[in-house]
Amino acid sequence: MSDITSIGVIGAGQMGNGIAHVAALAGFDVYLHDVARERIQSGLATITGNMARQVSSGRIEDVERKAAVQRIHGSENMDELADVDLVIEAVTENEQLKRKIYAQVCPLLKPEAVLATNTSSISITRLAAATDRPERFIGIHFMNPVPVMEFVELVRGIATADETFKLAAGFVERLGKVSATAEDFPAFIVNRILLPMINEAIYTLYEGVGSVEAIDVAMRLGANHKMGPLQLADFIGLDTCLSIMQVLYDGLADSKYRPCPLLVKYVEAGWVGRKAGRGFYDYRGETPVPTR
Ligand code: NAD
Repeated sequence: MSDITSIGVIGAGQMGNGIAHVAALAGFDVYLHDVARERIQSGLATITGNMARQVSSGRIEDVERKAAVQRIHGSENMDELADVDLVIEAVTENEQLKRKIYAQVCPLLKPEAVLATNTSSISITRLAAATDRPERFIGIHFMNPVPVMEFVELVRGIATADETFKLAAGFVERLGKVSATAEDFPAFIVNRILLPMINEAIYTLYEGVGSVEAIDVAMRLGANHKMGPLQLADFIGLDTCLSIMQVLYDGLADSKYRPCPLLVKYVEAGWVGRKAGRGFYDYRGETPVPTR
């Protein structure tokens, strides 16, 4: 395949709707699928709202927004992804679920279509082996929020063909983003470094060294980070943070990666961050309020 003109995105959550957003603005036809109609509708509503904000802040023209919106098709039925050149899977960070999705989508696709995953941490080689196209499988790891963050990590599995890599790199470039290549080891580059820091911030809270606010202000002003680590954890999603820590812990077999019990407790409570309205902060009022 020489070039990509249409893509499928599976999962219309935080990442999936962001990927659909930037791809449509870059001129690709996008088919956005999720498990239920309401999830697709909510993903499309987020895209509409985010694009409208980009217009009002002067980052895009209204004609670009209109054209991009026209290019995004909500696809309740996965069959609608049959003719796309590239599928990007962005469902929940759960290996069994991702495997199930590949078993459903692969038989529908053209043999030359590329399948990519946006996983934050799961082995690309192992996911690829669960498909009918390991040589046409790759990790394209976008950062959150996708329309704002200009970096993408590209991760090759052991079987990923050069042609697949070039195609993915070209696609990312057409989105106007910068990529770097990571080897396929647990959590790749960004999360291998970032998540142990977030987990340590949660331990710092758990052990009573500092409050939520103290930890966040300390790292914002003391380490010159744009966001505090607990604010960032809420933003990423605490369920996603926990699964990345589990992947690091299992994959590297080193106790320094053990997930903080307080992180586990928040996830068990369903307080998984911004997307749930509550995490280390409560987002249900006008301004976020620390929950501890
Ligand atoms: P999310 O919870 O916002 O969205 C996940 C979506 O997957 C939901 O809309 C859900 O309905 C959908 N889904 C679940 N089962 C499905 C099925 N059977 N068929 C179709 N859709 C299904 O999660 P997210 O933050 O968008 O994360 C998605 C992926 O992106 C994960 O692999 C995560 O590790 C990765 N990622 C997340 C971030 C982040 O900061 N949140 C950053 C980079 C990569």
